[in-house]
Amino acid sequence: MGNPKGFLKIKRQSSEYRPVCERVKDYGQVFSLRSERESREQSSRCMDCGVPFCHWACPLGNYIPEWNDAVHNQQWEKACALLEASNILPEVTGRVCPALCEHACVLGVNDDPVTIRENELAIVEQAFKEGLIKPQPPKQRTGKKVAVVGSGPAGLSCAVNLNRAGHEVTVFERDQKVGGIMRYGIPDFKLEKKVLDRRISVWEREGIIFKTGVDVGSDYPIAKLTKSFDAICLAGGSRVPRDLKIPGRNLKGLHFAMEYLTQSNRKVAGEKFVASPINAKGKKVVVIGGGDTGSDCVGTANRQGAACVIQVELLAKPPEERPKQQPWPTYPFLLKTTSSHEEGVDRKWAVLTKEFEGKNGQVKCLKCVQVKFADKKTIEIPDSEFCLEADLVFLAMGFVRPEHAGLLDQLKVDYDQRGNVKADNYQTSVNNVFAAGDIRRGQSLVVWAIYEGRQTAQAINRYLEGIKQK
Ligand SMILES: Cc1cc2nc3c(=O)[nH]c(=O)nc-3n(C[C@H](O)[C@H](O)[C@H](O)COP(=O)(O)OP(=O)(O)OC[C@H]3O[C@@H](n4cnc5c(N)ncnc54)[C@H](O)[C@@H]3O)c2cc1C
Ligand code: SF4
Repeated sequence: MGNPKGFLKIKRQSSEYRPVCERVKDYGQVFSLRSERESREQSSRCMDCGVPFCHWACPLGNYIPEWNDAVHNQQWEKACALLEASNILPEVTGRVCPALCEHACVLGVNDDPVTIRENELAIVEQAFKEGLIKPQPPKQRTGKKVAVVGSGPAGLSCAVNLNRAGHEVTVFERDQKVGGIMRYGIPDFKLEKKVLDRRISVWEREGIIFKTGVDVGSDYPIAKLTKSFDAICLAGGSRVPRDLKIPGRNLKGLHFAMEYLTQSNRKVAGEKFVASPINAKGKKVVVIGGGDTGSDCVGTANRQGAACVIQVELLAKPPEERPKQQPWPTYPFLLKTTSSHEEGVDRKWAVLTKEFEGKNGQVKCLKCVQVKFADKKTIEIPDSEFCLEADLVFLAMGFVRPEHAGLLDQLKVDYDQRGNVKADNYQTSVNNVFAAGDIRRGQSLVVWAIYEGRQTAQAINRYLEGIKQK
């Protein structure tokens, strides 16, 4: 514990954000990295708790009090080693994680929690700057081959852990570049893609083989996959979007959020795409869905020069303070105002969209009604109907399950009740086929995908060593 009185003297200080008027003109990172002095100061707020609840709340089990202490004492090499022991992508979680750890930080009981996420980011960025992040190839190879299908955080985490254990790992990705939703869903203003490229180049030097532009089950036959590899990890994500099948759904101007975000990210990266471009310039935009994906659509539409942006959510507005029913250290469902919201949006809560109306086949408005909730039922409030004008509507209501057609159906894996790949201890119903990330647990978070990839790598490793599964 660097400074036993740090938490008494120093207030929480978050990173500076670029002014809204400046940042909406580009897709660069919205915040500035903290100075080394600020990071040392903020880390010294950590109380090195006897029972560190931050560690308990983090799916990865990060060594948080230990690296806070190392940062305060400028022991960057030690901090980096501690961080790398549990997290393969701290530069991503340090930017986009909702920081489950901070909601459980003991200091948060009667003060602002430690800036754990930003301390994590400070460590990894300092480590890259000082050349501390180096390839960690295995000392010897086992001769076993593993295929990882999907290069999102789950697939990458599995691949890195298995490669370091000495297995030869090939990652197949149907998109042009590696990264999954981190590359094609999350916009650059939250996560610049050079951050991914920098890390992927380290892993290439470790010996991981990346094959992009290959759709397994279509471009690459299943028979070849099962014959060529000793084990397979399915990490294809959960990509079937939740639809809104109401009158007018077939009008022009309605798009799933991922269609829009993927196009925008490709455009920012200078990639080519064949679909006709979706552009919000000068348009009235409505985003349906109040989560992260919806917020990313808001930020992208504002950068494209939308005339106005409205975001509607079916659920009631969450509280700004922890409600009694969600006490510390649990993760509370609070009102989240992102940097994209701060850039300009009208947020509406408890709104049910009942119909899309159009003119000449093009969407023109949404017919909505206010709702309330009682006895787990959604009740329309009488005489509360209203219309929202719209030229462009993005459906950002989450994802229901992975795509079954193609790879999964051909492999004949079992599904659970929700249609996700069923896996007991990460092993699917098919011998030597494992599953990690959103494809198994449903739509979740980057940090959970990294955790799942790590656990799946352990299960595959045990399988390859011939140790009986539990
Ligand atoms: C728009 C958006 C914003 C988000 N923002 C955040 C955030 O800020 N913070 C956060 O923690 N989480 C966020 N999430 C959630 C997070 O990104 C996901 O939970 C996470 O990426 C899941 O990782 P995954 O590896 O399981 O799948 P994915 O990231 O979906 O990756 C799966 C990959 O598999 C590939 N694939 C699928 N089938 C095949 C096949 N047959 N052959 C070859 N390749 C295949 C896909 O092309 C894809 O690249 C966001 C999600 C979305 C949609
Ligand atoms: S709970 Fe907060 S104060 Fe306690 S060890 Fe973790 S980061 Fe430090």
